[in-house]
Amino acid sequence: MDRVHQLRELLDQYNYEYYVLDNPSVPDSEYDRLMKELIDIEAAHPELITPDSPTQRVGAEPLKAFQKVIHKTPMLSLGNAFDEADLRDFDRRVRQGVGDQKVTYVAELKIDGLAVSLTYENGQLVLGATRGDGTTGEDITQNIKTIRSVPLKLKQPVNLEVRGEAYMPRASFERLNKRRAEAGEPLFANPRNAASGSLRQLDPKIAADRKLDVFLYQIGSTDGKELRRHSDGLEWIQSLGLKTNPEWRRCDSLQKVLDFIAYWTEKRPELPYDIDGIVIKVDSLEQQRMLGFTAKSPRWAIAYKFPAEEVVTTVEGIALTVGRTGAITPTAVLTPVQVAGTTVGRATLHNEDYIREKDIRIGDQVVIHKAGDIIPEVVRVLKERRTGREVPFRMPEQCPDCGSDLVRIEGEAALRCINPKCPAQIQEGLIHFVSRNAMNIDGLGEKVIKQLFKNDLVQDVADIYALTYDDLIKLERMGDKSVRNLLSAIAESKKNSLERLLFGLGIRYIGAKAAKTLAQAFGTIDRLMAATTEELLSVEEIGDKMADSIRTYFSSPDVRALIGELKSYGLNMTYTGGTTQEANAADSPFNGKTVVLTGKLSAMSRDEARSAIEKLGGKVTGSVSKKTDLVIAGEDAGSKLTKAEALGIEIWDEARFMEALNT
Ligand code: NAD
Repeated sequence: MDRVHQLRELLDQYNYEYYVLDNPSVPDSEYDRLMKELIDIEAAHPELITPDSPTQRVGAEPLKAFQKVIHKTPMLSLGNAFDEADLRDFDRRVRQGVGDQKVTYVAELKIDGLAVSLTYENGQLVLGATRGDGTTGEDITQNIKTIRSVPLKLKQPVNLEVRGEAYMPRASFERLNKRRAEAGEPLFANPRNAASGSLRQLDPKIAADRKLDVFLYQIGSTDGKELRRHSDGLEWIQSLGLKTNPEWRRCDSLQKVLDFIAYWTEKRPELPYDIDGIVIKVDSLEQQRMLGFTAKSPRWAIAYKFPAEEVVTTVEGIALTVGRTGAITPTAVLTPVQVAGTTVGRATLHNEDYIREKDIRIGDQVVIHKAGDIIPEVVRVLKERRTGREVPFRMPEQCPDCGSDLVRIEGEAALRCINPKCPAQIQEGLIHFVSRNAMNIDGLGEKVIKQLFKNDLVQDVADIYALTYDDLIKLERMGDKSVRNLLSAIAESKKNSLERLLFGLGIRYIGAKAAKTLAQAFGTIDRLMAATTEELLSVEEIGDKMADSIRTYFSSPDVRALIGELKSYGLNMTYTGGTTQEANAADSPFNGKTVVLTGKLSAMSRDEARSAIEKLGGKVTGSVSKKTDLVIAGEDAGSKLTKAEALGIEIWDEARFMEALNT
């Protein structure tokens, strides 16, 4: 069968890249998908199974550079479960296998590293080996000895072969890749491949430098102790001085296993190392013996894999959107796939240069990445899968919305539509005008604006102030109460201090902060409109580009007419100072951010720092979690800093913090 042959070839190639080269070309989810397809075909056609099929084999053969180690008992892989149904199947098989006895499971974190075996004779470490192909591994004793948490001598003089996972903590991984980037060396794809690459170096100095760690999770063999349960084994090896992972639980029902999985699905980013799932093992060793093994894995254990954060899908097309400033943004339209637990059908492509750099073509298979709330991104194209039918993308010469010619402004990556009457731009401009940091009109969201525009009720920002009850009540999903609320929000917005209006008008280069500076400096819109370039430039923080932009904007007769109209609706055109703090906050780097302070600051107390951040719209919390946006680390910062590093959270030192407060 052709497909079987094709799948085996692909899986063999991916195994080689992953286990031998430590450099995978596809994400694990893609490997798992193809493996599942092969398993399913072989299950339906057992006559097709061959001993060398990837479904029957563990890992890959050891490298010739190392001494071979024959494992006394094979080091196997684990079966996979991807959802609750798979786990229920596993639970059913286990119960059947033990003749309906009561079963207790042990749930453990599945550390994303590589399996190693440590052999102790009379309590002395004599051998460290990789799993290799399960039967034969590599002697990496010298490298294993560089891991500080591996004891060279146990607390008792026992004979023991113990197995576990060697891994690279996230902080070590980031440091390593940073150094490699600086040295122009290729980066490791993930901590697992980095750990594996480090332990399989011939020079132990390199491994020593890479700051690896280990968790031991299983006894291979021992003559040191009679044990009845796997969990007793974990406690015993820990008492011998071996490092075990503390986060394991005995679960006397499948429901408890599911709860453990749910808990760690949420908490996973807070760990300082990567886990890719949860391993579930039958606790009773007697029951384990009753269940036995398949060719590749024990029947008494299974690995639940978390939803993938990187998957492969196809670019079906490239859609274009027109922004408020006329910038044209391309977006990849993807064959919908599950990534990190949600269905993803689009990924941002930023601009034409980005597409060209990554060489993304329509029809390409691409790896996309999404973690948590982050917007999906195309990581790379699987060029080796091209068929020749992929179509390179060219940006159009005309605006996809209004059809006018696009221009590329020097020094900018984006193509722009410069037609001021472009409907797409007008709608985006209206959305900006009513947004929170501008006129802050509650109840006037994107959907309402689009309806108002479509129904010809609003063409420019002044029309918002002419809206009546009768206009609004006709719109979809607008009841009496929401119309009244909206009308009062519109009326209320007329009182806003000048900077909100200035920002809302969307003058190029004028952000919330510059708008406030201008409002403060000139006091009224008339004075600002009359200001000469010199007068504008004399205001601190206003540079050439901004001054030019303001002059150009206000010299347009259309703009002058618009301002006149807004005045006639009774909008305040004066700086009232009342919203200084909000305007400050609007443009501050702390606005809407969750910030954690740690260590000692020399310039101010913790309380002062907290209130400064809060004034600028930030929230200060006491502990670091994945919800933290920013950590400010003073002198002698401790565990909070370590945790922030592990979670990849932005960290500022005091100097950077002071600079941000002073701008
Ligand atoms: P596995 O990773 O699915 O599970 C078995 C391994 O889990 C064990 O060998 C052990 O090393 C590890 N493990 C971690 N914590 C454990 C714990 N607490 N208890 C027991 N074991 C624990 O199986 P595998 O055979 O090592 O690797 C197969 C997986 O590797 C695939 O599912 C795929 O995701 C990945 N892979 C990817 C590619 C690729 O090209 N991207 C290629 C080959 C393999």
